[in-house]
Amino acid sequence: MVAIIHGTLVHTPIKGELAILRNCLLITNDQGNITLLKQDVAMETVPSILQQAGLPSGDTKVRYLSDYQFLMPGLVDTHIHAPQYPFTGTSTDLPLTEWLNKYTFPSEQKFQDTDWAKKVYGTLVRRLLRNGTTTAVYFASIHLEATQILADTTVGYGQRALVGLVSMDRNAPDDYVDTTATAISKAERFIQYCQHQATSLLTPVVTPRFIPTCTLALLEQLGGLARRYNVPVQSHISESLGEVAFVHQLHPDFESDATLFDACGLLTDRSIMAHGVHLTDTDVHLMAARGSGVAVCPLSNAYFANGVFPFQQHAALKTGLGTDVAGGYSPSMLTSIRQTVVSSSFGHDHPVVDWKTALYMATLGGAELVGLKDVIGSFAQGKQLDALVIDLTTEDSPLDLLLDTESMDLLVEKFVNLGDDRCIVDVLVAGNYVTPQ
Ligand SMILES: [Zn+2]
Repeated sequence: MVAIIHGTLVHTPIKGELAILRNCLLITNDQGNITLLKQDVAMETVPSILQQAGLPSGDTKVRYLSDYQFLMPGLVDTHIHAPQYPFTGTSTDLPLTEWLNKYTFPSEQKFQDTDWAKKVYGTLVRRLLRNGTTTAVYFASIHLEATQILADTTVGYGQRALVGLVSMDRNAPDDYVDTTATAISKAERFIQYCQHQATSLLTPVVTPRFIPTCTLALLEQLGGLARRYNVPVQSHISESLGEVAFVHQLHPDFESDATLFDACGLLTDRSIMAHGVHLTDTDVHLMAARGSGVAVCPLSNAYFANGVFPFQQHAALKTGLGTDVAGGYSPSMLTSIRQTVVSSSFGHDHPVVDWKTALYMATLGGAELVGLKDVIGSFAQGKQLDALVIDLTTEDSPLDLLLDTESMDLLVEKFVNLGDDRCIVDVLVAGNYVTPQ
């Protein structure tokens, strides 16, 4: 299906800068790649342009956007735990280790039940698409079948997804842990399962939960899998002071999470490491040298990292944003954007990250972090069309437009700060409308 849209497009092709393309005509090919992106096209000239392009207007449906509608890039959630979705919005009252034992491991363990997996994952993927998350980087559980169901569900709903089967072989409950050999075998079988699917939207990810739940042997072998199958890596890095201290105790020979991951071949230019609040300057240099980046999760950083990601000190790193459901209470990336801005002002006299920069991290920055900078995250000829149609005047819109002088960048700012799924009237991935009904 070819997508054709005429109206205002907004995106952040450069960090911190909002670009507004007015009267823009955008056309994709059948594969969802943008083949035409032209500004200042009068609406009445669209039919003749389509005719010249061999797309007779009688056969082709053009989406004309109104003055209070705009097209923006789809949101990229670079860190979310799918099997924690059932308890989202609750249970953030404990420190990390106690939280894992009391809420997280029991919730994830239930995914040995494949019917439960189908129910939860179908609900979650629809919810994320409705909230504008066109790409999600998922942690699943240690269960092969349930993780395959998550992968199938994203494919079924047309979401772009990076999915990881969680690997752990120690420091977890007896009924929710694998031996090293089983963990490796499952991780490898899941990679093969995904790589045999006939879609470019699905990518498997090597996923050691975090260092405390993995032996050195497991981490080394996972590094080998990432290299052999050329797939991305995701984990948690230097999240809380307690976790950093525990890793020191387990591995006194290594200076930090980063040096240990690196020794195991898990710091690559496709590594998506969550949190990183307590990375040292040496860690940051190492990760930057390897091309690894951080999924910044402002809500769960407040709850579990007891800190704010230091954007200025860690500026050398690629950064995207994540919801970190359920350590973060909201599955909406708009909440992550807002919380990033708010928390970045702590200890400063202004927000270190403004809303345009946070929007960049939720779109093109996230795309860069997950290795898709040339594919999604902004509008350009040749890129895939992953986008949201925003309408600020829907009947149940959560925001009121009372001033008739509002410029488009103020309208976009209002959407970022006040909008929600009621304003997201359509969702496109690879040029296809995937809006949940
Ligand atoms: Zn996490």
